[in-house]
Amino acid sequence: MTKIVQIYEGKAKKVYTTENPELYIVDYKDDATAFNGEKKGTILGKGVINNRVTNHLMKLLEKNYIPTHFVEELSERETLVKKVTIIPIEVIVRNIAAGSLSKRLGIPEGTKLSKTILEYCYKDDALGDPIINNYHIDALGLATPEELAIIAKYSFEINELLQNYLKDLYIELIDFKLEFGKTTDGKVILADEISPDTCRFWDSTTGEKLDKDRFRRDLGGIEDAYKEILKRLLGE
Ligand code: ADP
Ligand code: UDP
Repeated sequence: MTKIVQIYEGKAKKVYTTENPELYIVDYKDDATAFNGEKKGTILGKGVINNRVTNHLMKLLEKNYIPTHFVEELSERETLVKKVTIIPIEVIVRNIAAGSLSKRLGIPEGTKLSKTILEYCYKDDALGDPIINNYHIDALGLATPEELAIIAKYSFEINELLQNYLKDLYIELIDFKLEFGKTTDGKVILADEISPDTCRFWDSTTGEKLDKDRFRRDLGGIEDAYKEILKRLLGE
């Protein structure tokens, strides 16, 4: 399968059509942005790591009956995926308080939440991805209540599967973002990526941050942190 036309260039990936109208190729870049594009930089080797980590985790989810867009890894940075219409909702799953939740609710970062929290944000860069609830989603027609119920069910299941898998690698899953899409036959499946760009991973023994917060907060050692995640997950 080869790239035909680039249909989209985002902050972290490019998306291409292929000979097959049902399939796209995503190409992961080293570009990094934070704070809705205000902070820009490059993380050398990030595209390769995010591609491989995402595919590794999507395969794990597929094995556990979560439908995903993953089809085949084509190269270090390129993956063949099922084409979907992205549902414009960013689903945030939180196990431990951090980032915007800590700021918004005054809960110190690192506080274990007594229950997993799901949040929805409206995927709209111009609006800064504002937080919304199920009533907004219904009123704005972003997803039907039935679709949202599936999204929530998958999100909790994905959280359980990833938490359990990562625990054995001494990685604590603090929070993460998911995107879902609809296939041409109307099925809701997991799309986009699951990587150190979109998850908070803390070393469970030292508490060291092994994710994009090192870039957001200028903590240094960003490339090494991403490499460490690749090493623990894929053994390389
Ligand atoms: P952003 O759009 O936030 O800058 P990226 O640089 O990661 O993000 O761009 C990738 C884009 O491709 C995102 O908008 C994402 O929603 C979209 N996408 C991810 N997977 C698929 C898919 N299987 N089919 C269609 N679009 C997808
Ligand atoms: N996240 C993401 N993309 C976004 C917003 C958040 O991947 O556009 C991820 C982020 O990496 C973290 C989780 O979602 O793992 C929760 O992020 P938060 O709301 O705390 O936002 P932040 O602190 O990044 O502004």
